[in-house]
Amino acid sequence: MNASRPLRTPDDLLEAGLVAPEDLAGIRDVAERYAIAISPAMAALIDRKDPDDPIARQFVPDPAELKVTPEERADPIGDLAHSPVEGIVHRYPDRVLLKAVHVCPVYCRFCFRREMVGPQGLGTLSPEAMDRAFGYIADHPEIWEVILTGGDPLVLSPRRLAEIMQRLSSIDHVKIVRFHTRVPVVEPERIDESLNAALKASGKTAYVALHANHPREMTPAARAACARLVDAGIVMISQSVLLKGVNDDADTLADLMRAFVETRVKPYYLHHPDLAPGTSHFRLSVEEGRALVAGLRGRISGLCQPTYILDIPGGHGKAVIGPEAIRGSGGCTTVLDFKGGEHAYPPSE
Ligand code: SF4
Repeated sequence: MNASRPLRTPDDLLEAGLVAPEDLAGIRDVAERYAIAISPAMAALIDRKDPDDPIARQFVPDPAELKVTPEERADPIGDLAHSPVEGIVHRYPDRVLLKAVHVCPVYCRFCFRREMVGPQGLGTLSPEAMDRAFGYIADHPEIWEVILTGGDPLVLSPRRLAEIMQRLSSIDHVKIVRFHTRVPVVEPERIDESLNAALKASGKTAYVALHANHPREMTPAARAACARLVDAGIVMISQSVLLKGVNDDADTLADLMRAFVETRVKPYYLHHPDLAPGTSHFRLSVEEGRALVAGLRGRISGLCQPTYILDIPGGHGKAVIGPEAIRGSGGCTTVLDFKGGEHAYPPSE
């Protein structure tokens, strides 16, 4: 059955045919710990006959989430270590995260901020906290880019988004405003003229970083929503998480990256899954990830290549995990081509 409203409780999931009655008790245990929401668009996309459906795996709770491994942590990428005032994360000199809201239209089972988002999460910044966050940005002339994340900033009304953009437009040193969101895919109907207008402010360039992990998420409605954003002058880039059982094969990743490029969304980041609590069933090893990404070279256009990155636990920032293409140094460098062939550089003749 297709839902007309988000599914938020174990009983909603049962009624929608996404959970079997015998599994309900385990799902209720997960629901006590982590938020649940599946938007109508995503509920409609799930193939109920496929027990391994990659869309269901991203959104339908799994009792495996209650198993926490020793290396997992509540704040896997170390936001708190770099938060000078509530709502701001200042990890790199020229940019900050502004976490205005900790609500999402869907709750991803692998979420790296799962301890912060949802009804029991950090909520929405109070007006006073917003004042302090904007004050911090205004007081730091080195901040060139503000990244609205959370939570999903595009759950805010166009009026609230326009207010945020208006306040940023009065801070001259901020040039770029980036929105991290799943909305164009999971609630494409929200992307309309008033939302597009709200994302613009004089003197600022708006980027929307779309989070999607499987090519089936790029439905005609999602593609149309992206087209509305791009046609309105907003630059789109992608971010995806490499997830076991969702996109951990080269064909799926290639189709996903191609779908982005066809939709005028430039592939940007492919994240190695973070050490969020209860997510070990989604994680593959760095070596497995590296082999998959190496398999994309040669197979798909350079336009489609994402940068594979790992957020170093503890808040130390991102590290690029490249396929090992160069060995040696100085006069004896060996370069690997996309088939694994070795070539001396510079060539001997
Ligand atoms: S949309 Fe982003 S912040 Fe929200 S649950 Fe998914 S991964 Fe987490």
